[in-house]
Amino acid sequence: MTSDIHNFDHHNLLMPVEPLFQIHHDLCTKCYSCVRICPVKAIKVDVNSELPSIITNRCIGCGSCYRSCSPHAIFYRSSIDVTKALLSSGEKVAAICDPTISGEFHDITDYRKFVEMIRQLGFTFVSEVSFGVDLVAMKYKELFENFKGKYYITANCPSVVSLIEKYHPELIINLAPLVSPMVATAKVIRQKYGEDVRVVFIGPCMATKDEALKFEGDAKIDAVLTFIELRQLFNDLNIRESQVEFSEFDAPLGHLGSLYPISNGLLQAGEINENLLTGSVITTEGRNNMLDAVKEFDSRIELIKRNFNMFYDEGCLMGPGTSPGGEKFLRMTLVTEYANKRLTTFDKQTWAEEIACVASLDLSRQFVADDQRLPIPDDEKIEEVLKMIHREGQMHNDIGCESCGYTNCRELAIAISQGLATTEMCHVFTGHNRQEYIQTLRATNESLAKTKTALAESEEMAKHEQEAQKETADIISTMLQKLISGVVIVDEDLKIYQSNKAFIRIVGEEAAMIDEVIPGLVGADLKSLLPVHFYKMFSYVLTSDESIENKDVQFGDTKLGISIFSIRSHKYVGGILRDMYVPELRKEQIVNRLSEVIDENFDMVQKIAYLLGEGAAKSEQMLNSVIDTYKNPGKKT
Ligand code: SF4
Ligand code: SF4
Repeated sequence: MTSDIHNFDHHNLLMPVEPLFQIHHDLCTKCYSCVRICPVKAIKVDVNSELPSIITNRCIGCGSCYRSCSPHAIFYRSSIDVTKALLSSGEKVAAICDPTISGEFHDITDYRKFVEMIRQLGFTFVSEVSFGVDLVAMKYKELFENFKGKYYITANCPSVVSLIEKYHPELIINLAPLVSPMVATAKVIRQKYGEDVRVVFIGPCMATKDEALKFEGDAKIDAVLTFIELRQLFNDLNIRESQVEFSEFDAPLGHLGSLYPISNGLLQAGEINENLLTGSVITTEGRNNMLDAVKEFDSRIELIKRNFNMFYDEGCLMGPGTSPGGEKFLRMTLVTEYANKRLTTFDKQTWAEEIACVASLDLSRQFVADDQRLPIPDDEKIEEVLKMIHREGQMHNDIGCESCGYTNCRELAIAISQGLATTEMCHVFTGHNRQEYIQTLRATNESLAKTKTALAESEEMAKHEQEAQKETADIISTMLQKLISGVVIVDEDLKIYQSNKAFIRIVGEEAAMIDEVIPGLVGADLKSLLPVHFYKMFSYVLTSDESIENKDVQFGDTKLGISIFSIRSHKYVGGILRDMYVPELRKEQIVNRLSEVIDENFDMVQKIAYLLGEGAAKSEQMLNSVIDTYKNPGKKT
């Protein structure tokens, strides 16, 4: 329930400050149960948010949506704060109780306790609407029996009245021109207890909250409490049956009006002929029956020839303002038991006198057309929408799945055209879209799977390449370490990129110590390890890209043969350092040098051999033998 306390005004307590029903979107689960149940399609679904909202002008206050909403997202306008304000205002306030209380408050063992509990809330008078029912019922008897060729629809159920005013305004003329028992009772109370008495109606439905707004003067209803709200007030003020004594209703007391909660109770209260053969009234109740009855009254009344006594709910005893979960036949039994109990103390003479006292009250009423019917779109437009929701060919099919809340596809298409519904409410449409979506999803998934496989393959390849590179690097590194010549590779900053053990051995003890901490001297500055002239040679090759080959350089006590060459232009430079005093290298070096001498002097040797004959050949043979000896030690020449 929502509250209107902030807008409380003692002079106009029932200002229509907020709609009767509202949907709290934060609680709504978009189940559209409310859309389906609403008999007049007063709930619109927003195209973007897909959230439902009640179109107040179209609403007939039946409360079906309120009852159908399982997450309790629908609230109705509360009158609790207004009632509390009235009760603390110092004014005389009368509670007028609908006879439906007997079916609702079965947990209160004696109605007299119930009356006292209401008094304890602060009401000056506690009266029953049964008396108002008696009065109105008598008027109906007069109306029906004084037949002048026109049949009537009873105007006691506010949802029925609202339905006719909004959706069948042509039937307003057939609405019985009589106030409801609630309004009749308010008039009686003011006549009996004074014009200044404030009146609070306690009843079983919410629609009476809006009905009450239409009356002023002696018919004014200052607030309407549902039974649910009344129970809340008892709880708020901790009023319990066990704490109160008996108390009787204030006069005037009703007679058979206490049967009013049962749909034909009004007829019994007015002793209106219900006989199927001789009577002139049909009683109907419940949402669908009532909707059908109005339609048939509209189209077939000349053939039906009956007055219609109609209720939206299955009797007031099942009204939406009663506690949820009520059992209809148990409530009926409680109502009849209560009526019988009251009859045991019924004082017919007093009742008749009270009736006579209010005989001059004006109980007439007029109705105002409030046409909420929307124009029906033309067939072309309807066909277009049917096509949009993949329901072509359903134009003249009266049967539909009804899951959208409309009786057939055409009705939904009309509602979509009128802006009341959305295409998403159709299962076929959403199913079709879902299929398309699934197909798109499947294609995307397949493409994703392919990409994933390709990625896995390229990852595998990259891994293999990485492993191969690492293996190559390991092989090169192992080979480097095996070489007897020192090898060092430096980068553009002349920082060591890689070096081998032979290089470290050549450089000396200091390099060996660094190698223990940084294996391979990686990152060490060449300048700090080698004398400046070595360092300059590396620097030269780095900048010039020209190699230095086999250059002998003194290094401490030893002589080094150095070759320096560019590995990657201006980026990496490699150096090979040979210790000339290492026996293996010396031998190799001597062989190389002798070979060079032989090559260089070959011409000269040939000339000498020509001049000196075999002597020269012997010289050459001797030199070759020296070479051979160095190459193959131990071999006889
Ligand atoms: S019945 Fe309730 S939850 Fe479902 S759509 Fe209506 S307001 Fe939302
Ligand atoms: S109260 Fe009734 S008419 Fe109003 S929106 Fe709810 S279901 Fe529709």
